[in-house]
Amino acid sequence: MQGIIAAWGRILGGYRPSLSIEITRECPLRCPGCYAYGEEHLGGEITLRQVRDFKGQELIDNVLALVDQHKPLHVSIVGGEPLVRYRELNTILPELARRGIWVQLVTSAVREIPKEWASIPKLHITVSIDGLQPEHDARRTPATYDRIQKHIVGHKIVVHCTVTRQQINRPGYLDEFLAFWSAKDEVRKVWMSLYTPQIGEVSDERLTPDDRTRVIADLMALRLKYPKLEAPEGMLKVYAEPPQNPDDCVFARTTTSVSADLTTRIEPCQFGGTPDCENCGCVASAGLGAVARHKLWGFVPVGSIFTGSVAIGERARKRRERNGVTAGVPVGVTAEPG
Ligand code: SF4
Ligand code: SF4
Repeated sequence: MQGIIAAWGRILGGYRPSLSIEITRECPLRCPGCYAYGEEHLGGEITLRQVRDFKGQELIDNVLALVDQHKPLHVSIVGGEPLVRYRELNTILPELARRGIWVQLVTSAVREIPKEWASIPKLHITVSIDGLQPEHDARRTPATYDRIQKHIVGHKIVVHCTVTRQQINRPGYLDEFLAFWSAKDEVRKVWMSLYTPQIGEVSDERLTPDDRTRVIADLMALRLKYPKLEAPEGMLKVYAEPPQNPDDCVFARTTTSVSADLTTRIEPCQFGGTPDCENCGCVASAGLGAVARHKLWGFVPVGSIFTGSVAIGERARKRRERNGVTAGVPVGVTAEPG
């Protein structure tokens, strides 16, 4: 509840409470269907592999300046592969903790996760594991099952699985996946996203409407069997009826996503390009969507309060900009706070 009130305060003040940073353009993996390296991810003019990214002290300074400018409550560090920049993160992560910011770092665990990160407060490490070993290894080599199991020792991680078509070609697959990872001491919880296509995308990963219905029904049952699976009923209902467009998506409207040059905005959400909202399976979007669809006292939809708050926040932001309150904006970073 405290977190919701703090986020609401940020929205009323004209800031987005969440900031997502592609910390590097590099990644040793080549996952099929990876949205970050899609041609349209950054709008079509430039791709993630072509943006200028930073290293060393320059990366540390620019990331912290970006955070100080946006004043988020929550930062997601994504990639590329964030572990490519583990040396810089050894400084950045404790600094973010010192500022009282919650951080989610999303990794393939292709290399060892530094042991000292286990004791950084407010840091959540999320490891992407897409299916059982045969399908995962085919998709995410060199971040194989064997490597992941070695690299997470000493940590308490969140497993994040994106369900693709390859994972649902036989009954019981998701059950086996959850049994395997739930049994591990290193796993704190498991999140399941559904593959989110771009509009018009034809791919092996894309789920059909029947696939989605079946996966949602499976997850409804599996959430009762595996306590580590964090999939509240309200969230699964949003998977069944996702937002119609980005304006309908609380996650997109509360998160600023920035690419590896720390300047280019990723719009309308972290997927970039033209994501197919009506087939969205993003766990974060569905989680916040469930909150927005909740009715306070049984009749006031939280979403309507949110929409009113965003409008008030927009006015506050414009007032701030008119008054020239842009101090602390680093060179090369956009002045608009969100
Ligand atoms: S690990 Fe992530 S960023 Fe790298 S190719 Fe795979 S999905 Fe893309
Ligand atoms: S997170 Fe999903 S619903 Fe939200 S804008 Fe992106 S694709 Fe659309």
